[in-house]
Amino acid sequence: MKDVIADLTFPTTCGSRILEGWRSPFEATAVRRLREAGALIAGKTTCDEFAMGSSTEWCAWGPSLNPADPARVPGGSSGGSAAAVAAGAVTMALGSETGGSVRQPAAFCGVVGIKPTYGRVSRYGLVAFGSSLDQIGTLGRDVASAARLLAAISGRDDRDATTLDRVPLGEPGPAPGSLAGTVIGVPREYFPAGLHPGVRAGCERALAALRGLGAELREVTLPHTRYAVPAYCIVAPAEASSNLARYDGARYGARADGGLADLRAMYRATRGRGFGAEVRRRILLGTYVLSAGYYDAYYRKAQRVRALIRADFARVFASGVHALFTPTTPTPAFTFGANLADPLAMYLSDVYVCTANLAWVPALSLPVGRDQGLPIGGQLIGPLEGEGTIIRVALALERALDGTAEVR
Ligand code: GLN
Repeated sequence: MKDVIADLTFPTTCGSRILEGWRSPFEATAVRRLREAGALIAGKTTCDEFAMGSSTEWCAWGPSLNPADPARVPGGSSGGSAAAVAAGAVTMALGSETGGSVRQPAAFCGVVGIKPTYGRVSRYGLVAFGSSLDQIGTLGRDVASAARLLAAISGRDDRDATTLDRVPLGEPGPAPGSLAGTVIGVPREYFPAGLHPGVRAGCERALAALRGLGAELREVTLPHTRYAVPAYCIVAPAEASSNLARYDGARYGARADGGLADLRAMYRATRGRGFGAEVRRRILLGTYVLSAGYYDAYYRKAQRVRALIRADFARVFASGVHALFTPTTPTPAFTFGANLADPLAMYLSDVYVCTANLAWVPALSLPVGRDQGLPIGGQLIGPLEGEGTIIRVALALERALDGTAEVR
């Protein structure tokens, strides 16, 4: 499980020096449910510091490597979980999502990743990043394993008032042999002219397979998609700046001595030494967009944009579309260092995944082929509480498609 999820056996460091060696006095509800279901927890996996990143390169303890090509990143921030599943070290893994951190690494490593509807899984014991976006998600070597893991951790929890009051998800059924009667929307904003040719070829293969299964493909439009990354880059850091205030050396965090007489100096030394560059960038950005004078221009505006993105999805699903099919990422896994100096380039690897977090809808990534050996992920997005639908479509697609075949 990703090292942002609290358990009683291992340290919970969130990939950060500020929590080096910290042991949680309580366990996450997801972990308790797995333990009670008889699961064996093998260990904690590498993640970007406090789940902020898309490559695991921002982990204070060093990155994970992509089993498909060790010169490339596994994606992030749940990259260690995706790599562990892809390498065959475990059959399933827990990750977490704020803006695509389960699906993007799943795509880069060639495994399946599911982000459930917001509120489907308890966030109790998941270290908070962006509380209105965060969800624990699951990874598996195939759709059934990721879906089984999700079923085991889902359901209402009295310790998280944002959980949905629903019975837990059931175990996945067998792969349907036909998708007749299922309408799959293909949003044109996710297939721009400049899309990576290998990603496009993989998605076209998957769309042909869906058509072959009897599904109806329908072009749809989600016009506010282009504002998703900008809105995410305001909302997520804003919430992070508040959530990370607790790491001050007094409440949480390895205390640095800034001069005993001066509390502010102690805070400054603790946070300056404990947090890495990306976390500091987000705290600065988030504090800025929440400050008096900028709140209306940035944070409130981003929340309004978010409502429009949510309305885009609601309109498409109300029009009779059962699920959407898109690429998971704009490119296959990139090489180490490629995006480190350019935060915006790094954030743009989440352009197709962060929309579902902003809109709270469930989404899943599955392998649709390989381009020169590098895995390509296809994404299914469902309506609110539509996990059952996207899992059913994914099971059929997975059976109809060799997810390891070269796409061009
Ligand atoms: N890569 C995104 C970010 O850095 C998403 C992270 C996540 O989903 N935890 O914010």
